Amino acid sequence: MIVVMEKDASEDDILKVSKKLEESGFAIHLSRGVERTIIGAVGDKSRLADFSLETMKGVDRVIGILAPYKLASREFKAEDTIIEIGDVTIGGNEIQIMAGPCAVESREQALEIAHIVKSSGVKIMRGGAFKPRTSPYAFQGLGEEGLKILKEAGETYGLKIITEVMEPGNVELVAHYSDILQIGARNMQNFPLLREVAKTDMPVLIKRGLSATIEEWIMAGEYVLNGGNKKVMLCERGIRTFETYTRNTLDLSAVVAAKQLTHLPVIVDPSHGTGKWRLVSPMALAAVTAGADGLIIEVHPRPSEALCDGSQSLTEENYNKLLSKIKKVANAVEREA
Ligand code: PEP
Ligand code: MN
Repeated sequence: MIVVMEKDASEDDILKVSKKLEESGFAIHLSRGVERTIIGAVGDKSRLADFSLETMKGVDRVIGILAPYKLASREFKAEDTIIEIGDVTIGGNEIQIMAGPCAVESREQALEIAHIVKSSGVKIMRGGAFKPRTSPYAFQGLGEEGLKILKEAGETYGLKIITEVMEPGNVELVAHYSDILQIGARNMQNFPLLREVAKTDMPVLIKRGLSATIEEWIMAGEYVLNGGNKKVMLCERGIRTFETYTRNTLDLSAVVAAKQLTHLPVIVDPSHGTGKWRLVSPMALAAVTAGADGLIIEVHPRPSEALCDGSQSLTEENYNKLLSKIKKVANAVEREA
Protein backbone atom coordinates (compact mmCIF):
# COMPACT_ATOMS: atom_id res chain seq x y z
CA MET A 1 0.00 0.00 0.00
CA ILE A 2 1.02 3.58 -0.53
CA VAL A 3 0.61 6.36 1.97
CA VAL A 4 0.56 9.73 0.26
CA MET A 5 1.60 12.45 2.70
CA GLU A 6 0.21 15.97 2.54
CA LYS A 7 2.31 18.58 0.77
CA ASP A 8 3.13 20.31 4.05
CA ALA A 9 3.61 17.16 6.13
CA SER A 10 6.52 17.57 8.54
CA GLU A 11 9.46 15.22 9.03
CA ASP A 12 7.93 14.30 12.38
CA ASP A 13 4.63 13.35 10.68
CA ILE A 14 6.51 11.16 8.18
CA LEU A 15 8.49 9.54 10.98
CA LYS A 16 5.41 8.76 13.05
CA VAL A 17 3.55 7.18 10.13
CA SER A 18 6.64 5.17 9.17
CA LYS A 19 7.02 3.98 12.75
CA LYS A 20 3.39 2.94 12.98
CA LEU A 21 3.75 0.95 9.76
CA GLU A 22 6.97 -0.69 10.89
CA GLU A 23 5.42 -1.66 14.21
CA SER A 24 2.64 -3.31 12.21
CA GLY A 25 5.21 -5.42 10.37
CA PHE A 26 5.52 -3.44 7.13
CA ALA A 27 8.78 -2.79 5.28
CA ILE A 28 9.03 0.91 4.53
CA HIS A 29 10.33 2.57 1.38
CA LEU A 30 10.30 6.36 1.26
CA SER A 31 9.92 8.18 -2.03
CA ARG A 32 10.60 11.88 -1.66
CA GLY A 33 9.10 13.59 -4.69
CA VAL A 34 9.39 17.27 -5.56
CA GLU A 35 5.86 17.89 -4.32
CA ARG A 36 5.34 15.39 -1.54
CA THR A 37 6.62 12.30 0.21
CA ILE A 38 5.12 8.92 -0.48
CA ILE A 39 5.57 6.02 1.91
CA GLY A 40 5.51 2.62 0.27
CA ALA A 41 4.54 -0.05 2.76
CA VAL A 42 5.04 -3.67 1.79
CA GLY A 43 3.48 -6.23 4.09
CA ASP A 44 0.29 -7.82 5.26
CA LYS A 45 -2.46 -5.21 5.31
CA SER A 46 -4.57 -7.15 7.79
CA ARG A 47 -1.91 -6.52 10.45
CA LEU A 48 -3.17 -2.94 10.66
CA ALA A 49 -6.55 -4.35 11.68
CA ASP A 50 -9.09 -1.58 12.01
CA PHE A 51 -6.57 1.19 12.41
CA SER A 52 -7.12 4.01 9.90
CA LEU A 53 -3.83 5.55 8.81
CA GLU A 54 -5.82 8.40 7.29
CA THR A 55 -6.48 9.69 10.79
CA MET A 56 -2.79 10.30 11.39
CA LYS A 57 -1.40 13.82 11.09
CA GLY A 58 0.11 14.67 7.72
CA VAL A 59 -1.53 11.77 5.85
CA ASP A 60 -3.41 12.80 2.72
CA ARG A 61 -4.62 9.40 1.52
CA VAL A 62 -3.88 5.71 1.53
CA ILE A 63 -3.95 3.79 -1.74
CA GLY A 64 -3.87 0.05 -2.14
CA ILE A 65 -1.79 -1.10 -5.10
CA LEU A 66 -3.48 -3.87 -6.98
CA ALA A 67 -0.46 -4.81 -9.09
CA PRO A 68 1.92 -7.27 -7.42
CA TYR A 69 4.81 -4.87 -7.94
CA LYS A 70 4.79 -1.95 -5.53
CA LEU A 71 8.15 -0.14 -5.53
CA ALA A 72 8.42 -0.30 -9.31
CA SER A 73 4.99 1.20 -9.84
CA ARG A 74 4.18 4.68 -11.04
CA GLU A 75 1.79 5.00 -8.09
CA PHE A 76 4.71 4.68 -5.70
CA LYS A 77 6.94 7.02 -7.68
CA ALA A 78 5.40 9.25 -10.32
CA GLU A 79 8.67 10.74 -11.60
CA ASP A 80 10.91 8.80 -13.97
CA THR A 81 13.90 7.18 -12.30
CA ILE A 82 17.12 8.66 -13.59
CA ILE A 83 20.23 6.57 -13.01
CA GLU A 84 23.50 8.48 -12.84
CA ILE A 85 26.79 6.79 -13.68
CA GLY A 86 29.40 9.51 -13.41
CA ASP A 87 28.45 12.00 -16.12
CA VAL A 88 26.15 9.55 -17.91
CA THR A 89 22.43 9.55 -17.14
CA ILE A 90 19.97 6.83 -18.05
CA GLY A 91 16.26 7.53 -17.96
CA GLY A 92 16.47 11.28 -18.52
CA ASN A 93 15.82 13.11 -21.76
CA GLU A 94 18.94 11.72 -23.40
CA ILE A 95 18.69 8.33 -25.09
CA GLN A 96 21.72 6.26 -24.11
CA ILE A 97 23.27 3.80 -26.49
CA MET A 98 25.23 0.80 -25.24
CA ALA A 99 27.25 -0.70 -28.06
CA GLY A 100 29.82 -3.42 -28.44
CA PRO A 101 30.39 -7.06 -29.23
CA CYS A 102 28.25 -9.93 -28.08
CA ALA A 103 31.35 -11.34 -26.41
CA VAL A 104 34.83 -10.16 -25.62
CA GLU A 105 36.95 -12.38 -27.87
CA SER A 106 40.41 -10.93 -27.34
CA ARG A 107 42.13 -7.79 -26.05
CA GLU A 108 42.69 -6.59 -29.63
CA GLN A 109 39.04 -7.11 -30.62
CA ALA A 110 37.70 -5.35 -27.52
CA LEU A 111 40.03 -2.36 -27.91
CA GLU A 112 39.22 -2.09 -31.61
CA ILE A 113 35.51 -2.00 -30.83
CA ALA A 114 36.01 0.39 -27.91
CA HIS A 115 37.67 2.75 -30.39
CA ILE A 116 34.65 2.46 -32.73
CA VAL A 117 32.25 3.11 -29.85
CA LYS A 118 34.22 6.09 -28.54
CA SER A 119 34.58 7.63 -32.01
CA SER A 120 30.83 7.43 -32.48
CA GLY A 121 30.24 9.59 -29.40
CA VAL A 122 28.54 6.76 -27.49
CA LYS A 123 29.40 6.55 -23.79
CA ILE A 124 28.65 2.95 -22.81
CA MET A 125 30.29 -0.21 -24.14
CA ARG A 126 28.68 -3.64 -23.90
CA GLY A 127 30.47 -6.97 -24.05
CA GLY A 128 30.06 -10.37 -22.48
CA ALA A 129 32.77 -12.11 -20.48
CA PHE A 130 30.50 -14.78 -19.01
CA LYS A 131 28.25 -15.97 -21.84
CA PRO A 132 25.02 -17.93 -21.34
CA ARG A 133 25.21 -20.25 -24.37
CA THR A 134 22.58 -22.77 -25.38
CA SER A 135 25.28 -25.25 -26.31
CA PRO A 136 28.02 -26.28 -23.89
CA TYR A 137 30.29 -26.61 -26.95
CA ALA A 138 29.87 -22.96 -28.00
CA PHE A 139 32.30 -20.21 -26.95
CA GLN A 140 31.58 -19.55 -23.28
CA GLY A 141 33.39 -16.22 -22.95
CA LEU A 142 36.78 -15.35 -21.49
CA GLY A 143 35.54 -15.10 -17.90
CA GLU A 144 37.61 -12.93 -15.56
CA GLU A 145 40.18 -12.35 -18.31
CA GLY A 146 37.36 -10.84 -20.39
CA LEU A 147 36.37 -8.59 -17.48
CA LYS A 148 39.93 -7.29 -17.20
CA ILE A 149 39.97 -6.53 -20.92
CA LEU A 150 36.64 -4.70 -20.66
CA LYS A 151 37.94 -2.61 -17.78
CA GLU A 152 41.05 -1.72 -19.75
CA ALA A 153 38.93 -0.80 -22.79
CA GLY A 154 36.68 1.34 -20.60
CA GLU A 155 39.58 3.14 -18.95
CA THR A 156 41.52 3.62 -22.18
CA TYR A 157 38.58 5.18 -24.00
CA GLY A 158 36.60 6.72 -21.15
CA LEU A 159 33.62 4.41 -21.63
CA LYS A 160 31.27 2.93 -19.06
CA ILE A 161 31.05 -0.85 -19.19
CA ILE A 162 27.97 -3.07 -19.08
CA THR A 163 28.47 -6.81 -18.82
CA GLU A 164 26.48 -9.85 -17.75
CA VAL A 165 26.71 -11.55 -14.39
CA MET A 166 25.37 -15.09 -14.44
CA GLU A 167 25.72 -16.32 -10.89
CA PRO A 168 25.35 -14.91 -7.39
CA GLY A 169 28.90 -15.90 -6.45
CA ASN A 170 30.31 -13.72 -9.25
CA VAL A 171 28.44 -10.49 -8.49
CA GLU A 172 31.29 -8.96 -6.52
CA LEU A 173 33.82 -9.91 -9.19
CA VAL A 174 31.79 -8.54 -12.10
CA ALA A 175 30.91 -5.39 -10.13
CA HIS A 176 34.61 -4.77 -9.57
CA TYR A 177 35.34 -4.60 -13.30
CA SER A 178 32.18 -2.92 -14.65
CA ASP A 179 29.75 -0.01 -14.29
CA ILE A 180 26.41 -1.72 -15.02
CA LEU A 181 25.44 -5.30 -14.17
CA GLN A 182 23.43 -7.09 -16.82
CA ILE A 183 21.00 -9.82 -15.83
CA GLY A 184 20.50 -12.00 -18.89
CA ALA A 185 17.14 -13.13 -20.21
CA ARG A 186 17.78 -16.68 -19.03
CA ASN A 187 18.44 -15.45 -15.51
CA MET A 188 15.55 -13.03 -15.17
CA GLN A 189 13.98 -15.26 -12.56
CA ASN A 190 17.19 -16.39 -10.90
CA PHE A 191 16.03 -15.01 -7.57
CA PRO A 192 19.27 -15.61 -5.61
CA LEU A 193 21.06 -13.63 -8.34
CA LEU A 194 18.51 -10.81 -8.18
CA ARG A 195 18.88 -10.69 -4.40
CA GLU A 196 22.64 -10.55 -4.70
CA VAL A 197 22.74 -7.65 -7.21
CA ALA A 198 20.23 -5.89 -4.98
CA LYS A 199 22.90 -5.77 -2.25
CA THR A 200 25.22 -3.72 -4.45
CA ASP A 201 24.84 -0.06 -5.40
CA MET A 202 25.53 -0.86 -9.05
CA PRO A 203 23.02 -0.02 -11.80
CA VAL A 204 21.32 -3.22 -12.93
CA LEU A 205 19.83 -3.90 -16.34
CA ILE A 206 17.27 -6.69 -16.30
CA LYS A 207 16.60 -8.40 -19.58
CA ARG A 208 13.10 -9.73 -20.14
CA GLY A 209 12.97 -13.51 -19.91
CA LEU A 210 12.43 -15.52 -23.07
CA SER A 211 8.84 -16.30 -22.14
CA ALA A 212 8.22 -13.79 -19.38
CA THR A 213 5.08 -11.71 -19.18
CA ILE A 214 5.43 -7.98 -18.69
CA GLU A 215 4.32 -8.45 -15.09
CA GLU A 216 6.94 -11.14 -14.39
CA TRP A 217 9.60 -8.89 -15.92
CA ILE A 218 8.63 -5.99 -13.70
CA MET A 219 8.54 -8.34 -10.70
CA ALA A 220 12.19 -9.19 -11.37
CA GLY A 221 12.87 -5.46 -11.06
CA GLU A 222 10.80 -5.40 -7.88
CA TYR A 223 13.14 -8.00 -6.35
CA VAL A 224 16.11 -5.70 -6.84
CA LEU A 225 14.25 -2.62 -5.62
CA ASN A 226 12.96 -4.49 -2.59
CA GLY A 227 16.50 -5.60 -1.82
CA GLY A 228 17.51 -1.95 -1.51
CA ASN A 229 19.01 -1.17 -4.91
CA LYS A 230 17.08 1.60 -6.65
CA LYS A 231 19.22 1.68 -9.80
CA VAL A 232 17.13 -0.68 -11.85
CA MET A 233 16.45 -0.57 -15.58
CA LEU A 234 14.42 -2.97 -17.67
CA CYS A 235 15.43 -4.28 -21.09
CA GLU A 236 13.10 -5.64 -23.76
CA ARG A 237 15.06 -8.12 -25.88
CA GLY A 238 12.36 -10.03 -27.68
CA ILE A 239 10.26 -12.96 -26.57
CA ARG A 240 9.68 -16.48 -27.82
CA THR A 241 6.69 -16.75 -30.15
CA PHE A 242 5.61 -19.10 -32.96
CA GLU A 243 7.58 -16.94 -35.43
CA THR A 244 10.84 -18.47 -36.59
CA TYR A 245 11.96 -15.97 -39.25
CA THR A 246 13.24 -13.72 -36.50
CA ARG A 247 15.27 -15.03 -33.55
CA ASN A 248 12.76 -13.49 -31.16
CA THR A 249 9.74 -11.24 -31.45
CA LEU A 250 10.70 -7.76 -30.29
CA ASP A 251 7.73 -6.64 -28.20
CA LEU A 252 7.70 -2.87 -28.46
CA SER A 253 4.27 -2.67 -26.86
CA ALA A 254 5.99 -3.96 -23.71
CA VAL A 255 8.22 -0.89 -23.78
CA VAL A 256 5.23 1.42 -23.82
CA ALA A 257 3.49 -0.63 -21.13
CA ALA A 258 6.56 -0.75 -18.86
CA LYS A 259 6.99 3.01 -19.20
CA GLN A 260 3.35 3.55 -18.22
CA LEU A 261 3.28 1.03 -15.38
CA THR A 262 6.69 1.76 -13.84
CA HIS A 263 9.07 4.67 -13.29
CA LEU A 264 12.08 2.60 -14.39
CA PRO A 265 14.19 3.35 -17.49
CA VAL A 266 13.45 0.94 -20.33
CA ILE A 267 16.18 -0.12 -22.74
CA VAL A 268 15.61 -2.03 -25.99
CA ASP A 269 17.90 -4.67 -27.50
CA PRO A 270 17.07 -4.89 -31.21
CA SER A 271 20.03 -7.24 -31.80
CA HIS A 272 18.76 -10.21 -29.78
CA GLY A 273 15.22 -8.99 -30.46
CA THR A 274 15.54 -9.79 -34.15
CA GLY A 275 18.69 -11.89 -34.63
CA LYS A 276 19.20 -10.35 -38.10
CA TRP A 277 21.41 -7.35 -38.68
CA ARG A 278 19.21 -6.06 -41.48
CA LEU A 279 16.32 -5.72 -39.04
CA VAL A 280 18.34 -4.14 -36.23
CA SER A 281 18.40 -0.52 -37.41
CA PRO A 282 14.70 -0.19 -38.34
CA MET A 283 13.68 -1.78 -35.02
CA ALA A 284 16.10 0.43 -33.10
CA LEU A 285 14.43 3.48 -34.60
CA ALA A 286 10.99 2.05 -33.85
CA ALA A 287 12.11 1.52 -30.24
CA VAL A 288 13.09 5.17 -29.91
CA THR A 289 9.67 6.15 -31.24
CA ALA A 290 8.03 3.81 -28.73
CA GLY A 291 9.71 5.68 -25.87
CA ALA A 292 12.79 3.60 -25.12
CA ASP A 293 15.33 5.35 -22.87
CA GLY A 294 18.22 3.55 -24.48
CA LEU A 295 19.36 0.86 -26.87
CA ILE A 296 21.82 -1.97 -26.44
CA ILE A 297 23.31 -2.91 -29.80
CA GLU A 298 25.80 -5.53 -30.93
CA VAL A 299 28.62 -4.18 -33.08
CA HIS A 300 31.52 -6.11 -34.58
CA PRO A 301 34.13 -4.91 -37.09
CA ARG A 302 33.98 -8.25 -38.93
CA PRO A 303 30.64 -9.92 -38.11
CA SER A 304 31.46 -13.00 -40.19
CA GLU A 305 34.39 -13.71 -37.85
CA ALA A 306 32.48 -13.10 -34.61
CA LEU A 307 32.59 -15.97 -32.11
CA CYS A 308 29.05 -15.19 -31.07
CA ASP A 309 25.99 -13.56 -32.70
CA GLY A 310 27.73 -12.32 -35.86
CA SER A 311 24.48 -12.51 -37.83
CA GLN A 312 22.90 -9.81 -35.68
CA SER A 313 25.99 -7.60 -35.31
CA LEU A 314 26.30 -4.29 -37.13
CA THR A 315 29.48 -3.33 -38.93
CA GLU A 316 31.08 -0.02 -38.00
CA GLU A 317 29.59 1.60 -41.09
CA ASN A 318 26.04 0.39 -40.45
CA TYR A 319 26.33 1.24 -36.78
CA ASN A 320 27.35 4.81 -37.53
CA LYS A 321 24.57 5.17 -40.11
CA LEU A 322 22.11 4.02 -37.47
CA LEU A 323 23.41 6.51 -34.91
CA SER A 324 22.82 9.46 -37.22
CA LYS A 325 19.26 8.26 -37.86
CA ILE A 326 18.68 7.76 -34.12
CA LYS A 327 19.56 11.43 -33.55
CA LYS A 328 16.90 12.53 -36.06
CA VAL A 329 14.21 10.23 -34.71
CA ALA A 330 15.07 11.21 -31.14
CA ASN A 331 14.62 14.84 -32.13
CA ALA A 332 11.21 14.08 -33.61
CA VAL A 333 10.05 12.59 -30.31
CA GLU A 334 11.59 15.42 -28.31
CA ARG A 335 14.49 13.42 -26.95
CA GLU A 336 18.24 13.84 -27.33
CA ALA A 337 20.71 11.27 -28.57
C1 PEP B 1 23.53 -10.53 -24.27
O1 PEP B 1 23.06 -9.39 -24.33
O2 PEP B 1 24.73 -10.75 -24.33
C2 PEP B 1 22.62 -11.68 -24.11
C3 PEP B 1 23.08 -12.89 -23.89
O3 PEP B 1 21.34 -11.36 -24.22
P1 PEP B 1 20.01 -12.11 -23.65
O4 PEP B 1 20.25 -12.40 -22.22
O5 PEP B 1 18.94 -11.09 -23.89
O6 PEP B 1 19.81 -13.33 -24.50
MN1 MN C 1 24.65 -11.73 -28.19
